[in-house]
Amino acid sequence: MGKDAPGLSLGSNANEAGGRGRDFIRAMIEEDLALGRKKTVHTRFPPEPNGYLHLGHAKSICLNFGVAEEFGGLCNLRFDDTNPLKENQEYVDAIRKDVRWLGGDWGDREYYASDYFERLYEFAEELIRMGKAYVDSLSAEEIREYRGTLTEPGKNSPYRDRGVKENLDLFRRMRAGEFPDGAHVLRAKIDMASSNIVMRDPVLYRIRHAEHHRTGNKWHIYPLYDYTHCISDSLEGITYSLCTLEFVNNRELYDWVLDTLGIFRSEQTEFARLSVTRTVLSKRKLIQLVEEGHVLGWDDPRMPTLSGLRRRGVPAAALREFVSRIGLARADNVVDYSMLEFCIRECLNATAPRAMAVLNPLKVIIENYPEGRVEWLELPLNPERPEQGARRVPFSRELYIERDDFREDPPKKFFRLSPGSEVRLRFAYYVTCREVQKDAQGNVSALVCSYDPQSRGGGSADGRKVRGTLHWVAAPYAVEAEMRLYDHLFLKDDPSDVDPGKSFPDCINTDSLVLASGFIDPSLRDLKPGENIQFERLGYFCADSDSTPERPVFNRTVTLKDTWAKLEKRG
Ligand code: ATP
Ligand code: MG
Repeated sequence: MGKDAPGLSLGSNANEAGGRGRDFIRAMIEEDLALGRKKTVHTRFPPEPNGYLHLGHAKSICLNFGVAEEFGGLCNLRFDDTNPLKENQEYVDAIRKDVRWLGGDWGDREYYASDYFERLYEFAEELIRMGKAYVDSLSAEEIREYRGTLTEPGKNSPYRDRGVKENLDLFRRMRAGEFPDGAHVLRAKIDMASSNIVMRDPVLYRIRHAEHHRTGNKWHIYPLYDYTHCISDSLEGITYSLCTLEFVNNRELYDWVLDTLGIFRSEQTEFARLSVTRTVLSKRKLIQLVEEGHVLGWDDPRMPTLSGLRRRGVPAAALREFVSRIGLARADNVVDYSMLEFCIRECLNATAPRAMAVLNPLKVIIENYPEGRVEWLELPLNPERPEQGARRVPFSRELYIERDDFREDPPKKFFRLSPGSEVRLRFAYYVTCREVQKDAQGNVSALVCSYDPQSRGGGSADGRKVRGTLHWVAAPYAVEAEMRLYDHLFLKDDPSDVDPGKSFPDCINTDSLVLASGFIDPSLRDLKPGENIQFERLGYFCADSDSTPERPVFNRTVTLKDTWAKLEKRG
């Protein structure tokens, strides 16, 4: 695990305050093991294959696989596939890929709730025989009405006292497909006056004439989540069933089902859901973004999906670090997106090689540099770690620099290029701007500069200092590349905070993707999709899955911070 960044554990070790330490779940497990309340740590990650995994799932994956690893236990991957209308194989495949990418290793323990349909059915018959479940023939609407409210108890259904024989007969015929959708449901017989609404005779099975992506047309009834989940946990011997806070009230039912059936007692513990500013983390909303075309697909690099983040160039190790830093809490909170960016930068700073590229090119002609001459300069892959080696980059009479790095009429403290000013070209020479060339419209088309041959490598012979350092690419060798520059997908920290009548797509940032046509040095055209690189002063990038040597495409993963300050200090 954590192959791509040694030393980073998959598991989180942060406490509620966000500092590194022991969180309440790890503390609980330690105590259970110490007191002999539990012998093993067996967890599961239970996604429903009804969408792609997102940042929130990363938290759950790191937690479940992480604690299993830390305590010498196991973690299963279980597809919670009980709703045939919304689930499909594409999602199953994507989920497996994403979990593996994050470092989750489920060995041969890949399970599906649908594998348990037969046993779930047998348990349901058992509940009926025990008088603990009945077939109800109220409509969905009526069931809702009978349920009562937080302040008022519910009412018993008129079908609640059906005898075991009748219930078994109806339930079997439900299974055989004799009834249309909605005609009957199977409900647990618990307590319509319970203060916990979940316990007011919850529905266990519904009729659904739908084809399931794994069981085909075999079933006409499908078990509901609350019933399926606890039994699946129990059948797999899960000791710790970790889930998000919205299931707190469902825990009582979880326990009721397992206790009533008298089967292995898995135990549910809730932790806070991850929410991050400037994103939505709900599959329903993510599906909407894809289906309404607000993004280009599930793996659009602006999406908070694991596949989108991966395509954007976010290393799995950065996500694990993020999850570790945010820690585990018992109460919901919102994490600032900048925390994620911080983790990405920190990870890429240590791992991404450096290179130069120009996003918005302006030509520079060095008038006193011999025509046709090329110098191959050795640029360190990481200036702070020379042992990592170097890349050979050509320098020539004609170059591209960043258009922003020149101002004809510079403001104060503009240390970059302007008429008459001198700057350092990174790793190369000092140059002075001698002449500004313009096209017919009056736009700057090229700069004529002179260079100081004594300043090779970026320092002058006479100790003369310059303040600005610019990156560049040699024009005759430059390879054109599409640069995809991303910004937040939403304009607001909380995308759901919109005016009445509006919804979260209304605060989408229409400038969240900016395309630039830039230049890279030729050594970069062979970067493989997904490979990370730091373009000096521009940010961390990675080659996109659309990238080919003929037509390189780069995604900006994240911008750099304080690069200017750093470079100027070094200069
Ligand atoms: P969504 O709300 O996006 O549909 P979900 O909870 O329905 O999410 P599941 O596929 O059922 O998605 O989730 C699988 C596991 O991931 C569950 O254990 C769930 O609690 C956990 N999980 C989902 N979203 C988050 C989140 N935002 N933070 C932490 N864990 C999450
Ligand atoms: Mg769900």
